[in-house]
Amino acid sequence: MIDLKKIRSDFPGLQINVHGKPYVYFDSAATSQKPKMVIDAVTSYYTDYTANVHRGIYFASEKATNHYESVRAQVAQLIHASSERNIIFTKGTTESINMVAYSWARKHLKPGDEILITEMEHHSNLVPWQIAAQDTGAILKYIPITMDGTLDLSDIGLLLSPSTKLFAITQQSNVLGTVNPIKELVRKGHDMGAVVLVDAAQSVPHQSVDVQDLNCDFLAFSGHKMLGPTGVGVLYGKMEILEDMTPFHGGGEMINRVTMQESTWNDIPYRFEAGTPNIAQVIGLGAAIDYLNDIGMATVHFYEQELLAHAKNALSDIDGITIYGPENNCGAVIPFNIDGIHAADLAQFLDQDGIAVRAGHHCAQPIMDKFGVSSTVRASFYVYNTKDEVDQFIQCLNNIKKYFV
Ligand code: PMP
Repeated sequence: MIDLKKIRSDFPGLQINVHGKPYVYFDSAATSQKPKMVIDAVTSYYTDYTANVHRGIYFASEKATNHYESVRAQVAQLIHASSERNIIFTKGTTESINMVAYSWARKHLKPGDEILITEMEHHSNLVPWQIAAQDTGAILKYIPITMDGTLDLSDIGLLLSPSTKLFAITQQSNVLGTVNPIKELVRKGHDMGAVVLVDAAQSVPHQSVDVQDLNCDFLAFSGHKMLGPTGVGVLYGKMEILEDMTPFHGGGEMINRVTMQESTWNDIPYRFEAGTPNIAQVIGLGAAIDYLNDIGMATVHFYEQELLAHAKNALSDIDGITIYGPENNCGAVIPFNIDGIHAADLAQFLDQDGIAVRAGHHCAQPIMDKFGVSSTVRASFYVYNTKDEVDQFIQCLNNIKKYFV
């Protein structure tokens, strides 16, 4: 059983009033609120043991290093990686994917090779591949989506071929909530000899993810969407593939021996963590993982699905509403429009009632093009949201509608 009262009291960001109304935060797909223990962990690093990691032979530096490295082990455990050496800290999903696009793709792709992605990718898993394709002469291809917001896999046999060198797919769409059959897609990619990257920005925060079971080659996610601080993310990679990448950034920490002419590289993962890392943020991410583990990822997922079903059910009674995305296999994200009201207006009216939702193209313009709309409203939930908040949201939508008749 989930203790909502306790959970809500852990989040200072939920205690505020907005325009004189209790704050309802329905934009967790963009970034999550942070529990006090995450904020405390960050503050404690700055107040109690500020020092650089991996360098100093003194108390604070050793403590910072121990905390920083223990989070690597926590992350490995969270996503069931076989070793913490597979875990590279980055500043977020975007940087993780760009690291692969620069350090792996530019080394391995040649003219005529193919990169396969899907029409439902976030710009972070699309633009880096456009640039990599331009730089290497590779060809970028897309798996289309159907009007119900799932991947159209009818031509996968043609789209995936021995020419496909990289297959990059999201596990859960940030726009539609669609949860893709990722294990099957990884297997299909491998059958053609492709390296497979999974964008897990929207899945790791909300469900249990097992990289060994998925058998993906890379997996990327961000700390700030899973109760952690901004400025920290993860790239998981299989060791033999990481070994075959050129360094992303050059600088301190990633080297072994430097002469005037050349350098040799440090071991993995440090080879890919040039310069002083985001120490406080990594330590905060560790506290976020502790927090999620205390609730249990299965409970987080189950509760969010309950909330989603409740919200979809109530929303579907609103006249003139279009809800996008699939009916099943969906994360706690509801994209919608209401006839005659622009998404941005709706979001602004909801803000007056203290309710935060997103309106726009959600960094995935190809999906908007597909549905023939320029924007949608997106309500997205996390483990701290309640059915009462959803009911309040529905009531506000019904009130707003009255202004537009
Ligand atoms: N992929 C997906 C599916 C996302 O939802 C996001 C963030 N909205 C990203 C990638 C990029 O994450 P970040 O901005 O944290 O790098």
